[in-house]
Amino acid sequence: MLRNDTLDQWDRENLFHPSTHLAQHARGEAPSRIVETGSGVYIEDRNGTKLLDAFAGLYCVNVGYGRSEISDAIAEQAKKLAYYHSYVGHGTEASITLSKMILDRAPANMSKVYFGLGGSDANETNIKLVWYYNNILGRPEKKKIISRWRGYHGSGLMTGSLTGLELFHKKFDLPLAQVLHTEAPYYFRRPDTAMSEADFVAHCAAELEAMIEREGPETIAAFIGEPALGTGGLVPPPQGYWEAIQPILKKHDILLIADEVVTGFGRLGSMFGSEHYNIEADIITIAKGLTSAYAPLSGSIVSDKVWKILEQGTDENGPIGHGWTYSAHPIGAAAGIANLELVDSLGLVKNATAMGTYMKAALQDALGDHPNVGDIRGEGLLMAVELVEDRSARTFFDPARKIGPTLAGELLKHGVISRAMPQGDILGFAPPLCINQAEIDTVVRATKAAIDAVLPD
Ligand code: PLP
Repeated sequence: MLRNDTLDQWDRENLFHPSTHLAQHARGEAPSRIVETGSGVYIEDRNGTKLLDAFAGLYCVNVGYGRSEISDAIAEQAKKLAYYHSYVGHGTEASITLSKMILDRAPANMSKVYFGLGGSDANETNIKLVWYYNNILGRPEKKKIISRWRGYHGSGLMTGSLTGLELFHKKFDLPLAQVLHTEAPYYFRRPDTAMSEADFVAHCAAELEAMIEREGPETIAAFIGEPALGTGGLVPPPQGYWEAIQPILKKHDILLIADEVVTGFGRLGSMFGSEHYNIEADIITIAKGLTSAYAPLSGSIVSDKVWKILEQGTDENGPIGHGWTYSAHPIGAAAGIANLELVDSLGLVKNATAMGTYMKAALQDALGDHPNVGDIRGEGLLMAVELVEDRSARTFFDPARKIGPTLAGELLKHGVISRAMPQGDILGFAPPLCINQAEIDTVVRATKAAIDAVLPD
């Protein structure tokens, strides 16, 4: 085995890490960790430090670490057939079976799955399909996409543009011109604290409608949104949000893309967030929970309505000019099959509801009275604690104080991984869906200890 110091050095000299302060990392000034093994909700690094991963990697290891059912399926597929492409009608037993399993679980209006590798490329596919759709329908000007501030849809050129977080635009010349951002459905950060939840929903709907009118409905192709905001703050929508938004989109013939990269396959305590909030999407994006990240795989689930036009398009223009070498990769598909079987056999969707309810109540009991805890929110096992400087005035800390990252660092000292969300002092939790009550108690105890240490009242 390589000694830690050698590997640390190689890391600093050779590996370009995503979402990392590159200069500090290269100089060895930033915290880093070399992770070696994982089992259940725990990971262990090369120094033997064992941590309870209350963010499931990047909210993706939904079945937990170390599941031999999935690693065995991957090994078997690799031995039998590690790769064949899916161009011009080719397939494998794994990719075809998984597409059926996904559609068996997806909302009834869904028709086909296109497989990609990650959430970003799946959303790139979706936007291309939306543009193609409108070209086939003879509406070449209907191309703009509306996303929300604080939405997260990836970090490619188009998907980084759709993402409504400053960090993903700054110095990258993004967002691209075809992308517009509307109000985030984030009730705790409503523009006026006097607004009721219903007032705020009406405000979000009015903002959207005004944007559509201003731009011209004939120029707006699609609206993309996560059923519950993820990276932008882990925020379930205010009551009635999706009921208010969808009729506006329908009225203006705007497609709805539900980005379920985080919410798909159980995170909210439902198989899909679309089902949870009565969203009738035209396209659904899936990734993370599809394989629990045991292999890279994503998907664009396309509705009947969109599929019919895609078929018409190929009748008129020949084969669709879209594809990746690794679309429907058999190893990813084998991982997906074994993963979805585990989600069912372990009852993880139900467990997400039960453990989510337990965790929210436990966080409320432990922290509800703390003067710097402004909001404790969540749905299923997607949960956040938002810190404020002054609770009654709802004022936020100066970002320069880095309260969120400091708290996440403090939690680590108590053996728990949380995530300091990138915009605001928001401590995020999205543990593997197999977490149990005792493990949740550990997370809540560590959170209380961290907050008491960093923000003594
Ligand atoms: N969409 C959502 C809702 C996400 O949370 C993410 C990643 O966190 C993505 C898309 C992008 O996925 P990936 O990082 O696999 O490209």
